Amino acid sequence: MKKEHPYLFIWFLSIFLFISFQMLPAQMDYLKSIKKIDVHTHIDNDARFLREFLDDYNMKVVTLCTGGLDTARLNFRMKGARRFANKQPRYYAWVTSFELVNRNDPDWTENIIQQLKDDFAHGAVGVKIWKEIGMGIKDAEGNYIQVDDPMFEPIFKFISDQGKTLIAHIGEPIQAWMPTYPISKDRPGVYWAKHPQFSFWDKPDLPSFSEIMAARDHIIARNPNLRFVGAHLGSLEFDVNEIEKRLEKYPNFAVEIGGRMRYLMWQARGKVREFFIKYQDRIMYGTDLAAGDFRWDGKKGRKSSEKEIEKNLQRLHYRHNLFFRYLATDDEIPWGNYIIGDHALPEPTYTVKGLALPKEVLKKIFYDNAVKWFPGVEKNY
Ligand SMILES: [Zn+2]
Repeated sequence: MKKEHPYLFIWFLSIFLFISFQMLPAQMDYLKSIKKIDVHTHIDNDARFLREFLDDYNMKVVTLCTGGLDTARLNFRMKGARRFANKQPRYYAWVTSFELVNRNDPDWTENIIQQLKDDFAHGAVGVKIWKEIGMGIKDAEGNYIQVDDPMFEPIFKFISDQGKTLIAHIGEPIQAWMPTYPISKDRPGVYWAKHPQFSFWDKPDLPSFSEIMAARDHIIARNPNLRFVGAHLGSLEFDVNEIEKRLEKYPNFAVEIGGRMRYLMWQARGKVREFFIKYQDRIMYGTDLAAGDFRWDGKKGRKSSEKEIEKNLQRLHYRHNLFFRYLATDDEIPWGNYIIGDHALPEPTYTVKGLALPKEVLKKIFYDNAVKWFPGVEKNY
């Protein structure tokens, strides 16, 4: 029975795409026609199928390098991104990062600043920091190092002085502090069951969600000239009012929606729609999608199989179409626990009504704000 799942998924996807393309309302036509930038992707390499996809969708992507504790992987990502973003600037922009392994070396800060300087000279439009700060790395006493630790301040100041942007995935959805559960005997139900190092459930000595958010907020307040983009809706995806509080308080703060669309879908439609309209200059389209045909394998990277490429492409079509439809139309969209991990469930369990955002708002969220918050991202596009 299990074997049927991929076929069901493909069948469902075909029907979904068929319906989407047949019944495109004017809003979808509009959205498809305008220039779009996905500010949150993880691109492995420059693949032809991906460029064709981006031409087809009139889109450019920003690839974010991430993960400062695995230097081999991080270097693979940074080297690759720098190369293909400079070679194909129509399609790719890149955001660099920095390693955390050597953070206790006396030269660490200076080395990182030199590296960032060089990355900016090679077109990096920003710097990404990840949840390993706050939930991963520890000091000599064994305490989790938070993002407002003085060790990071010269780096943030440098980014700010250079007029570049800091994009931060700090903290996790609040579920990381809730129990994890198995779907079946051998399959964890949620991400945090598979990645227990980021599950803070039942670990009372570890930082709370609020502490991590407060540390992040300190950085935004302390560096008013630093453009600070909160990845994944600033990890406050469960309530747009919580995001609103920060947007009101910090003019240098904006968010992107990558990987958190379902949380928006779970909140009251009117409230979410109002949020998008009110903060139409501070919200950016992002997906957190990975793509490419040469992936990291822990050593040097390897070529993807035909099957993997096909799956990758299906996912790109499916997700973008779903998100476009949710933001642009007022369709009743079949929804539910469509995807758990990588496994698609064939039957949607309820519907979500699209936000039908006005065209001028769509244009800002999909393009103008990316240009404003990541200057240079529009180069050659
Ligand atoms: Zn991501």
